[in-house]
Amino acid sequence: MVGKIVKAISGFYYIEYENKIYECRAKGVLKKNNISPLVGDFAEFEIISEAEGNLINVVDRKNSLIRPPIANLDAIIIVLASTNPEPSLLFLDKQLVFLENNNITPIICLNKIDLSDADEIKNIYEKIGYKVILTSVKENEGIDELRECIKGKTVALIGNSGVGKSSITNALLNKKVMVEGDLSKIERGKQTTRHSEILKIENDTYIIDTPGFSNFDLPNIETSLLVNLFVEFKSEISNCKYKDCRHVLEEDCGIRKAVLEGKISESRFTNYKLLYEELSNRKTY
Ligand code: GDP
Ligand code: ZN
Repeated sequence: MVGKIVKAISGFYYIEYENKIYECRAKGVLKKNNISPLVGDFAEFEIISEAEGNLINVVDRKNSLIRPPIANLDAIIIVLASTNPEPSLLFLDKQLVFLENNNITPIICLNKIDLSDADEIKNIYEKIGYKVILTSVKENEGIDELRECIKGKTVALIGNSGVGKSSITNALLNKKVMVEGDLSKIERGKQTTRHSEILKIENDTYIIDTPGFSNFDLPNIETSLLVNLFVEFKSEISNCKYKDCRHVLEEDCGIRKAVLEGKISESRFTNYKLLYEELSNRKTY
């Protein structure tokens, strides 16, 4: 039998199979092979009683993250607020670079559109092929579109503190939302749980609730590879004069040309250069 690990806590793995949860211990063979099961893993297991089983093996993963430890994410929802806190496109581009590098599909969610509009950001990112959803948890806008978009997927939310991750999670789970202040967090016991857990939204649709999981850092990659993670830059590279163009200060650069022609947004180019610099500085240490 193959189920899905929905929770892992002090040596126990909770495997969901046909709408039931089995508390499992890992068989020695897993440890021998140095496999450490993760939340999100599809796991072969045997049932030993009504609610218990043995975890025998882990099915090959589609992807996995170390921090937080999660496997087989179908998408990550990057949440920004239209205001309060102000959205940072540098932050957004950094998260996109991380996800592109890990082969995880990003979904951009611009929340709190009841406070300010976010059309400009939506346009920039939609134009380059990303799914962008505008939401207001307060006015129950865009939540159905978001729910539709993640149907059948296992997703996690990231984003700075205060952008509305808990509120969106609660709304997707149809829980009571929009309690003023931070009550929503206390309701979900965010402060007391330290393990990741997968919450079921509906059949085959799961959301990962990981305390303290807010942002990804820039991956450790060669500076020359950064350009490949800016999805709309790739097609312009052939117009660079020099083969080893870094697309930073070079005059005869295809990316620069595309920015001047309005094909690539200025903020994306600026952020590319900032992240390039961050990566180069990292190297010298
Ligand atoms: P988290 O830190 O990302 O989990 O953010 P929370 O879900 O705790 O939300 C932070 C604050 O923003 C709370 O006071 C929420 O009530 C509020 N909030 C969340 N979504 C919206 C929204 O769409 N509009 C408005 N006006 N406030 C929101
Ligand atoms: Zn170039």
